[in-house]
Amino acid sequence: MNRKAKRELEDYILEKALTRRQELALMLSERELTIREIVDYFRATTKEIVEDLKSIAYKYKDRFVAKPAVCEFCGFVFKERDKIRKKPSKCPRCRNEKIQEPRFSLKPVT
Ligand SMILES: [Zn+2]
Repeated sequence: MNRKAKRELEDYILEKALTRRQELALMLSERELTIREIVDYFRATTKEIVEDLKSIAYKYKDRFVAKPAVCEFCGFVFKERDKIRKKPSKCPRCRNEKIQEPRFSLKPVT
């Protein structure tokens, strides 16, 4: 790939990501979503969506809500203050593998 084509491709990818982030921000202000739901909706990769969420969290700061993953069996709450990532695979307390995924949303403007 020559340099011009590479640049065009990069611009295209960036533009697509920006549009996706705008749409995602709208969706998050309407309801809570898990990374899996967002990935399915946009047919994007988990990595791309995690980057989108980080960017949205940075942009909307106080409005961004990240509900941590919770063990469905014992209620153990996975604390992930700054990190946005997919759900953990196993509960450290009871070893149960049924973990409720982290959910993300944007609070309405007050
Ligand atoms: Zn547990």
